[in-house]
Amino acid sequence: MMDLHCRIDLYPDPLSVVDCCRRLQVFVVSVTTTPAAYRGTVRLTRAGDPIETALGLHPQLAGERSREVDLFDEHLPAVRWVGEIGLDGSPDLKAAWPAQVQVFEHILRSCASGGGRLMSIHSRGAAGPVLDSLRRFPNAGVPVLHWFSGTLAELDAAIAFGCWFSVGLPMFRSKKGREILSRIPRDRVLTETDGPFVESNGQPIHPWEVDLVTKELASHWQVSWEETGQTLRINLARLTASSSVDCVALSHITPPPKDRPASADSK
Ligand SMILES: [Zn+2]
Repeated sequence: MMDLHCRIDLYPDPLSVVDCCRRLQVFVVSVTTTPAAYRGTVRLTRAGDPIETALGLHPQLAGERSREVDLFDEHLPAVRWVGEIGLDGSPDLKAAWPAQVQVFEHILRSCASGGGRLMSIHSRGAAGPVLDSLRRFPNAGVPVLHWFSGTLAELDAAIAFGCWFSVGLPMFRSKKGREILSRIPRDRVLTETDGPFVESNGQPIHPWEVDLVTKELASHWQVSWEETGQTLRINLARLTASSSVDCVALSHITPPPKDRPASADSK
């Protein structure tokens, strides 16, 4: 099981979510919204956990948290994954658009000069500009577009650029989402829950429920669940191998703190 985009620090009891992922061996990319939140989130995990904490600065917070790019650069050598990063073209974020672009391109530049990273990228209403920025920093790393919702032309451009896609339950719930899913090459697909904001049966979805996505994918592809699982495992292995990330240490080697609540810095 693999959940390539989940905000573990935002569940009511993040330590129990970590513990369950540990017991069930669910591979999770635990994305964060700010570098300050990263500091608290990485402390939830310990060496050997199947969880990688990603260093992020969410586009919806880029306007008010742009000063945290220095903290981002400070933590970057310790991580293999960055996310959630990207751009958001929603009308209510229009005023912060210049700050969003500045923050996103700062991060891409830092990733490029640090040897590249695996990147979980948000592109709602901004797939075209996200691709423009990625083209300006081709050595930033390997882009994984999460919950892609752009046009089919933007999708084709993203595929041509070499993007990967992490897909979750909401994409199966709309006609447009299913159209996008039909067009993404199967060897570029990975799964995500986007928990805790996505719900399943009226409750926040958990990383170990990512099997629901695998089942949807199997029925969409009209192949067996086993074959779908095998395709996803091969994809994850290829994605990981494609990153020549030379980081000082993987994020999950930081021991949990004894002196403070683990999610103290979370937002
Ligand atoms: Zn997002």
